[in-house]
Amino acid sequence: MNAVDSARMLSLMSSADYLAAATLEEADLVLLNTCSIREKADQKIYSDLGTLRRWKQRRPGRLVGVGGCLAQQDGEALRKRAPYVDIVFGTHNIANLPEMVRRAERRLPTLALGMEEEMTHWDVVPYLPAGAVSAMVAIMQGCDNFCAYCVVPLVRGREVSRPAEGILSEVRALTDRGVMEVVLLGQNVNSYGKKEGEIPFPELLRRISAIEGITRIRFITSHPRDLDDRTIRLFEEMETLCPHVHLPLQSGADRVLEAMGRGYTRGEYLARIDALRKVRPGMAFSSDFIVGFPGETEDDFRETLAVMGEIRFDSSFSFRFSSRPGTRAAEMKEKVDPQEAASRLRRLQELQAAHTRERLTAQIGRQVTVLAEGASARDPGTLCGRTACNKTVNFTPGGGEGALRSVLVTGAGTHSLVGEERSSDV
Ligand code: SF4
Repeated sequence: MNAVDSARMLSLMSSADYLAAATLEEADLVLLNTCSIREKADQKIYSDLGTLRRWKQRRPGRLVGVGGCLAQQDGEALRKRAPYVDIVFGTHNIANLPEMVRRAERRLPTLALGMEEEMTHWDVVPYLPAGAVSAMVAIMQGCDNFCAYCVVPLVRGREVSRPAEGILSEVRALTDRGVMEVVLLGQNVNSYGKKEGEIPFPELLRRISAIEGITRIRFITSHPRDLDDRTIRLFEEMETLCPHVHLPLQSGADRVLEAMGRGYTRGEYLARIDALRKVRPGMAFSSDFIVGFPGETEDDFRETLAVMGEIRFDSSFSFRFSSRPGTRAAEMKEKVDPQEAASRLRRLQELQAAHTRERLTAQIGRQVTVLAEGASARDPGTLCGRTACNKTVNFTPGGGEGALRSVLVTGAGTHSLVGEERSSDV
């Protein structure tokens, strides 16, 4: 979501005749788009701000703006802690960015933190690099779930869905520019449109799929409670829907899931995975985990490892519980010892690494279709792209044309595959 917001900021600033600088030293203005999902992200931003303070001192007239979730969360306090910041703007205030920069140029600092639900920036088209074949499209923002540990509803506001017509016209415009894959974004995509009485999420998927030029559709993030049978069945019917689902489990212990306020049990989660595997065998799954949630015991944690063993996720994002101001979990007393939490995280990540290796190795010898996104970062002579199951593949081109290439997988690394293009007949 932050990546899309940053792309929006870039396009707004470009249309107001500002140019992107190649280096920090060349720049006159720095905008930080921030995250506050964990304490570590907060700390990193304040450390970056220390660097920017010295950068400002080196040339009078330079400006610093801080937007995003940390700006929304800390607001006035951020200004107090870093008084050299010229613009502090929250998650609902992006559309006015050029105006805020102009004010700052006239030495008028801005603090813009309004969060009214209608203050969205759907109409600001995110910057798209030339030649892009994949693009993210925000379909909603905010969240109404208030999971005990999560700061998102506080800093991104309540759930608001974007009108379907705007989404469809953005996708049409993207395909006109050569985009073949769209990644639909929202904190809880499965509840798209419910509050507003918009078309339901499965119908939105169908309409996007009908747009000429769309080859692949992905969506993040699904909530295990709201991923319904209609959406699951679409994986059987719609070839454009990529066989990869990111479904955050967070914990494998019912006790912990309840304390987190997640609204599903381990059994219900497993049933969703089963249903998805039935309609699309070979589907890839990724997940999110929090270890060391207040009250989590060794037995609870082992239940998480057991579910991982059962499902064998292709990949996952995992973190130690981080207390966020204003959330219910911040008030919970039974904190897990930080060293114990760190050790659990290590164990979980080792298990995940083994599963990832296993899933990647299973691809060796297979012929896969890769949507090539450009030259590989490590070797400009090879191309890099992703399979429908969302596996990154670096491959030697074999003379094919267009972005869809047929590749023979010849090897597996820690997080990605390598291969050779064998035929362009895909
Ligand atoms: S559903 Fe996701 S974004 Fe919403 S409160 Fe829960 S963890 Fe946060």
